[in-house]
Amino acid sequence: MTRVAELVPYDEALTRYEPVIGLETHVELGTITKMFCGCPTTFGLEPNSAVCPVCLGLPGSLPVVNRVAIEYTIRIGLALNCSIASWCRFARKNYFYPDMPKNFQISQYDEPLCTDGWIDVDVDGQTVRVGIERVHLEEDTGKSLHMGGATGRIHGADYSLVDYNRAGIPLVEIVTKPVPGTGALAPVVARAYVTELRDLLRALAVSDVRMEEGSLRCDVNTSLARRGAAEWGTRTETKNVNSFRSVERSVRFEIERQAAVLDAGQRVVQETRHFHENDGTTTAGRSKEEAQDYRYFPEPDLVPVAPDAAWVEQIRAALPEFPAARRARLQSQWGVTDLEMAALTNSGALDLVEATVAAGATPADARKWWLGELARHANESGAELSELAITPVDVARVSALVQARTLNDKLARQVLEGVLAGEGSPDDVVAARGLAVVSDDSALTEAVDAAIAANPDIAAKVREGKLSAAGALVGAVMTATRGQADATRARELILQRLTTS
Ligand SMILES: [Zn+2]
Repeated sequence: MTRVAELVPYDEALTRYEPVIGLETHVELGTITKMFCGCPTTFGLEPNSAVCPVCLGLPGSLPVVNRVAIEYTIRIGLALNCSIASWCRFARKNYFYPDMPKNFQISQYDEPLCTDGWIDVDVDGQTVRVGIERVHLEEDTGKSLHMGGATGRIHGADYSLVDYNRAGIPLVEIVTKPVPGTGALAPVVARAYVTELRDLLRALAVSDVRMEEGSLRCDVNTSLARRGAAEWGTRTETKNVNSFRSVERSVRFEIERQAAVLDAGQRVVQETRHFHENDGTTTAGRSKEEAQDYRYFPEPDLVPVAPDAAWVEQIRAALPEFPAARRARLQSQWGVTDLEMAALTNSGALDLVEATVAAGATPADARKWWLGELARHANESGAELSELAITPVDVARVSALVQARTLNDKLARQVLEGVLAGEGSPDDVVAARGLAVVSDDSALTEAVDAAIAANPDIAAKVREGKLSAAGALVGAVMTATRGQADATRARELILQRLTTS
């Protein structure tokens, strides 16, 4: 194959081509046990300690379907506006892979549990409806570890190890319909879809949806059609993209790369591709199998799944509030703009702010601390807001201390720092660091007198009625008290001294 070295700049590519995207998302369900046996699904156990004859595919072992996994999948299907099959079967997908001890995967093929749904995604103030083709249930594979190579990939490795703990964990695959017509927004729509899906799955409490631990994994399909052409182009499938940002970057890169291939008069090859985090590029993997390569047939060791209609309705009735509805409710309760709401959602502060408000802070204060001081801390330490060593209750307490004028903003920041540094609760930090605001007149009078004495010119202006000049004297009091004075009270005392005598 001739290698096309150049990329077409993104904006230029969009003038000639229209992208179509599609996403296949794998979600490990948060069941306590595996899909077809009683082994635990706990992450991070000693390799090959959570295995049994069923998930190791030993001869004579028989699988039994996990009812909770079926229930969770129906919950997902209903939340995605899908139809739920009243009768369906599992299928055997036959292929050899070292991390799959049975040499087949129990999956669903032509009889998925949930079909034909949709989810709305907000991008730049517009709503894009993403169609859902199917939601089906299967079992995860084990995990190969390639040792001794530089990249962790099989190429260049000295040897490989296999951990079967993950083999048999229930895995839901959510496949979108192709999404055309998003133009230059395609990469952002892909990212927004995965984000919305993650939030929805979290609200449904069916998975811990941690991309970094692999419980949410994404394959991103991209194709380009020449503008005005009736037919879509050939798609590539970028495998296992493992962050929201990477989803966006991988679509963007494929648009630039495929445009270059097409401009050169070549054909895009239907293949899987690997995404590289370090430079945002993709490289060719294997050419894509056709369904017939897997020799699917109905799994003979399992009875069909036939969810009772009453049970499905019971699951529907118990669905929680969805993220979009919750955002709308909070936005109206808090009286914030679309832009402010987007900032809260994008920074991952929504849950934290809600909990802080529940702990007694005003929405404005809760937003101020989480999006200001605490976001700065998170940025500096490269952590998520939710990973900071401070709770919404702590933040609400600091906010209450400011409201009560026990702390001013400057001292409050020091208290937050102390809590983040592990010095205890806000009250512990206030006591240990002696941080409370000095508002007591007898303690302030001395600093006020000293400030007036040290700044006779300014004092004279205030005496002549130029009250705005008093600010400089308040500043001097704050400096002298190392920021601990109650500025409002200090100003009152200064004006009393200079205007009433
Ligand atoms: Zn097992």
